Amino acid sequence: MKAVVALVGRPNVGKSTLFNRITKSRQALVDDMPGVTRDRHYADAQWDDKAFTLVDTGGFLSADDDYFASQIKEQLSRAVEEADILVFILDGRAGLSPYDRDLADFLRRTEKPVFYLINKVESLHRQEEELGEFYTLGMDRFYKVSAEHGLGVGDFLSDLVALLP
Ligand code: GDP
Ligand code: MG
Repeated sequence: MKAVVALVGRPNVGKSTLFNRITKSRQALVDDMPGVTRDRHYADAQWDDKAFTLVDTGGFLSADDDYFASQIKEQLSRAVEEADILVFILDGRAGLSPYDRDLADFLRRTEKPVFYLINKVESLHRQEEELGEFYTLGMDRFYKVSAEHGLGVGDFLSDLVALLP
């Protein structure tokens, strides 16, 4: 069985964009409207000769705040259950949201490895000033990436596959 790697995070952070980049497919629908990924998507992925299964999570269908929050948690607990490795994606443009804090709290409870990515980081100039707030989540390390342009994705993938047998 190949290792299962799940992309998690609130809507619109770029999960599907990263999924498509890593799997070199257009399977996951990318859209400005949160909730476009109707279900989970699975695809084979490979880096440095190591193969794994990548999961894009989604399925957030409601604009109602409470329901929306509970759906995010539901998706997340399913992902945590079925994945071997979690990839938590944050939005470097939108900044930290209360949902991110909830998800981070939830993820702290799993013993599975979690990678933390700040996506949409295209400009070096923005990095230190504007990304500082993410460090208040208390993680050891963040990968700054641009799923859209591919920046930083290779560094992240190299560390990811280093955990695979
Ligand atoms: P998801 O809801 O987490 O799956 O997010 P999507 O992949 O659908 O992306 C949401 C929006 O963010 C889309 O408009 C994407 O084009 C945009 N986006 C995704 N990745 C990047 C990135 O690296 N940089 C920028 N500037 N925009 C991005
Ligand atoms: Mg999506």
